[in-house]
Amino acid sequence: MSENDSNNTTVKKTFEANISELMNMIIHSFYSNRDVFLRELISNASDAIDKQRHTDLQNGVVDKSYEIRIDPLSKEGCIVIEDDGIGMNEDDLVRNLSTIATSGTKEFVRNLQEKSDMIGQFGVGFYSAFLVADRVDVITRKQGGALMKWSSDANEFYTLETLTEGEETEFPSNGTRIILLLKEDAKEYLEEASLRRIITRHSSFIQHPLSLYCKKTVTTPVASDEAKGEEEEVLEEEEEEMEEGSDKPVVEEVKVEEDTSKAESKTDTTPKTITTTTQEWEKLNGGPPLWYKNASEIEGKEPYHALYKTISNDYTEPLYWNHFQTEGNYEFRGILYIPSKMPFDMLGDRNREKRNIRLYVKKVLVLNELDKEMLPDWMNFVSGVIDSADLPLNVSREMLQQNKIVRALKTQLKKQVMKMLTEVAADEETYAKFYENFHRHIKLGIHEGDNSLLSFLRLKNNKTEGVMTLDGYVAEHRVSEEQKAVYYITGTVPPQENAIARLYTEKGYCVLYFDEPIDEFMLQRLSKFKEYDLVNITKDHVTPWAPNEETDTEEEKNTLESFLGWAKKTLDGVDSDVDSVKRSNKLVLESDPPLAVLSSKWGWTGQMEKIMQSQPLSDGKSMSYMKGKRIVELNTEHTVIKSLLDKYSTTPEEEKDAVCKDRLLLLYRCGLLVGGYPISNANDLVNGVYSALSVDASVV
Ligand code: ADP
Repeated sequence: MSENDSNNTTVKKTFEANISELMNMIIHSFYSNRDVFLRELISNASDAIDKQRHTDLQNGVVDKSYEIRIDPLSKEGCIVIEDDGIGMNEDDLVRNLSTIATSGTKEFVRNLQEKSDMIGQFGVGFYSAFLVADRVDVITRKQGGALMKWSSDANEFYTLETLTEGEETEFPSNGTRIILLLKEDAKEYLEEASLRRIITRHSSFIQHPLSLYCKKTVTTPVASDEAKGEEEEVLEEEEEEMEEGSDKPVVEEVKVEEDTSKAESKTDTTPKTITTTTQEWEKLNGGPPLWYKNASEIEGKEPYHALYKTISNDYTEPLYWNHFQTEGNYEFRGILYIPSKMPFDMLGDRNREKRNIRLYVKKVLVLNELDKEMLPDWMNFVSGVIDSADLPLNVSREMLQQNKIVRALKTQLKKQVMKMLTEVAADEETYAKFYENFHRHIKLGIHEGDNSLLSFLRLKNNKTEGVMTLDGYVAEHRVSEEQKAVYYITGTVPPQENAIARLYTEKGYCVLYFDEPIDEFMLQRLSKFKEYDLVNITKDHVTPWAPNEETDTEEEKNTLESFLGWAKKTLDGVDSDVDSVKRSNKLVLESDPPLAVLSSKWGWTGQMEKIMQSQPLSDGKSMSYMKGKRIVELNTEHTVIKSLLDKYSTTPEEEKDAVCKDRLLLLYRCGLLVGGYPISNANDLVNGVYSALSVDASVV
């Protein structure tokens, strides 16, 4: 909605609902850290300069200087932040400052709503200006475009105005001036000391010159007869220099005092002092960017944290970073970060098209985000900057798809992430934090075929309290040198409760336990760790111990054989996935379950079948070839199986089905349930239980 003010060119518009909500939250939140507003605005100014510089360089303009200026003095109660950056035209102002473009940001606002007490800690970009200001004016111009003014009082409206030259103070050919009318309780931000503190703390890494307009008091001794003349001269200068737009210091006050320390002197040449208060621009930074310095030159963590916060939009400190410089065919410098938590914005989205890594060429920003191809999917949590000395400044996205240096860049990025990961893994405590948040990424990487990540897994097991590595398993937890396999189970039943895992435990074997859905996907791709087979013991496999000696009589053998044949035929009638029915050499004790359903070696586990079935977009039928065949193992030592065999052998052929079928099906369905398989019709199972209970009841 917009409405024209008939007297001038001011247009009043309504903010998008999301922005109003966001501003409302900002204004009413109980914030603990309002300082962030300056970091956000300085970082926007720096980005805008990066963009302008890039454009200038592409047009062959190389000798321009760019600056960020912060002025708390010239406008009553206001702090003015100005940059020589790219500026904004009308469309930009509407799009960038008045709508929330990305769904990621919308998500972010939603999350903020839930955690509004923490708002002061979040980087909410431009809008954080409203943490300290009642009103924000943005005066801005894109090269060759009109001078525009955007204003908001933090209500649901904003105004847009095309300014005529001279209406505002002289304005550069391009750039942005942001004027914050500070809230009553935010006047501290007019104080030089506060501004210096915040800039040093949060923005010292900004590579563009940043100047603060501040008061300077200079006391100089003068001979007394010179003092008067000096005073007059300075005051004359003051008038000249107060002219707007002058870069020279503005003289505010001149005081001439007798120097009392030298009061004994009575001659005309008694030394006096002249105190001059001037206002002048002081350059606060402008050194090389953080990644151009040596890590050893950087004091403390603050500069790294500050850079991270502006790149990542994450309000928490990063978990770890890698500041690197590489030499060789191509030279790269950079700083890559691992967040301390899985960010709740789009970083978590595996399908995101971009990676949160800025590409610089010799300190000039050329891309704000790298395309996703530059870093494997599983590394999408990494953010940072990389600077290449070898790429041309006018590098385009198309070039980035072919260039040899880009291939080197890609390799280097991956190498540096791996280096960082290896360093994190060396510290158990830090790695535990990382793993808690990012284990799925590691597993995704393995699923994508990167076996070098296997050593980064931390696995639950039946031997140790905590987790262990695969290297730890093979080095310390094999029963003997002869053990050439790593045994594991998947699913929701821990090894202590899984009958087959219990058997392995009793025999001294270490059994790993994978209980996350993503583990199933990862393990699908995995059959070996180093020279060791990875064996899921709930699938069909050969046990590492010899089967029990068979002590059956010839008659028992015949009965069993006939029963197994009948059972297979009977189960085939209800489930086409049954591959075989056999006597178990794993369930051998009376106390073990009577029956287990295992999946075939290369098929899905029951758990995986269940996961695939619950995928909202999966077409169960088209994937059915991946379903494992089911192997039904019977525990012939269990009383229930013994009695079933007995019933079977004593029942005439034509009555076997009527007498034995229900029991077999009930046992099978219980086996499916315990094995983690989906039950296609719960009624079948439940009716079986009811009918067994009624037999029981009728006996009683
Ligand atoms: P972000 O910087 O994370 O994109 P902001 O809310 O801080 O989010 O800013 C929104 C957009 O407004 C920026 O992406 C940029 O396009 C534009 N913008 C903000 N400040 C400036 C500025 N000083 N000069 C030019 N454009 C700016």
